Amino acid sequence: MVEIKYIPATTLNNGLFNEIGIELELKGKKINIANIAGSTMISWFYGKDYENIRKQFNVNDDVMIIGDSGGFQIGSEKEKTGKEVRFNCFEILKWQEKNCNIGLVMDVPPSGNPGEDLFKLYSNQTKEYIERFVERRSTTSKLKLYNILHGTNPRHLDIWYKNVNGFNLDGWATGPKPSSDCFTQSQAILYLLEKGDVRHIHTLGVSGTSVIPILYYIAKKFEDKIDLITFDSSSYLVGSLYRRYMLQQNNGFYFFIPEVEGVYIGKPIKLNKLPCDCPICSNVTFKEMMEYKAGRLLSLHNLYDTLRYCNLLDSLKDEPEILKTFLKNKNRILKCFEYIDYCIKYNVNEGYKKYEKFFTNPNVVTPSTKSLFEY
Ligand SMILES: [Zn+2]
Repeated sequence: MVEIKYIPATTLNNGLFNEIGIELELKGKKINIANIAGSTMISWFYGKDYENIRKQFNVNDDVMIIGDSGGFQIGSEKEKTGKEVRFNCFEILKWQEKNCNIGLVMDVPPSGNPGEDLFKLYSNQTKEYIERFVERRSTTSKLKLYNILHGTNPRHLDIWYKNVNGFNLDGWATGPKPSSDCFTQSQAILYLLEKGDVRHIHTLGVSGTSVIPILYYIAKKFEDKIDLITFDSSSYLVGSLYRRYMLQQNNGFYFFIPEVEGVYIGKPIKLNKLPCDCPICSNVTFKEMMEYKAGRLLSLHNLYDTLRYCNLLDSLKDEPEILKTFLKNKNRILKCFEYIDYCIKYNVNEGYKKYEKFFTNPNVVTPSTKSLFEY
């Protein structure tokens, strides 16, 4: 049986993203995002100043903490400010060993679609970082350390994989861009599965209903070959950022709850009751959701909503035909299922040739100048 886990990405400080951090206070009660989801992902970039995250932020012992190395944030910071962020692979590794169950090696993530030379250079630099991680790894730590794969077409995947493969690591993370493209995302996972023994996979920065269903579909198709699929997402934060109220069970449906004070985003609406019975919506009124500082309520509802959506997919995945019926309005996802089946029948190379036109062109994607929590 494959375990599939949704991992909400968090920061540790309240106040960074409209007062959303890992721990929130609501009506005098402390609420912890990691404890609600049973997991969280924290980037070293945001967590580096904290020695013992579980203790400092009241994270339960059984919560899975994934520690990203911060490559994405470091790259974004450089693009945004022109400043280099100084880091030391050993320091990152030690932080992961102290705080996390799973750590991702430091990588140099390609943004947009760089030329082949640049792509080779990034994979070479990543290989050097991995060597440093592997050399200094503690023999007693329980940390599972994951390698990372980038690339948006079979040729790039080959270049990257040949360069970074061969280390004795515990799993793989995939990070092709755009993260919202189900074809690019499934291609990277299928590529790894074709290459060999990959029982633990993490998909980086998955965005909502446009990708999540394919992970459940792949998990079912490869149930004998995979033990654990994790995927992180910060989408729930659109509550705080854009006052967006998600209803994912309706396949990505959302609306905006405007503020009573402050800036209106979207069309002003008025509901007499909230259309959800999650622990947040059962305890607050629509009016409270409209308050200026209700962004955290919206985000927490979104978190519960995503967990419920994942739970639903986890149940339906065992009967792929029912899963397809549930997703009947999501043509792109259904096409992607067809692509996955085709790759399983033939291979990733043939799959790309036949379905290339459906892949989102990475050239049209804006380079990653945004931070993890921005959209
Ligand atoms: Zn709710």
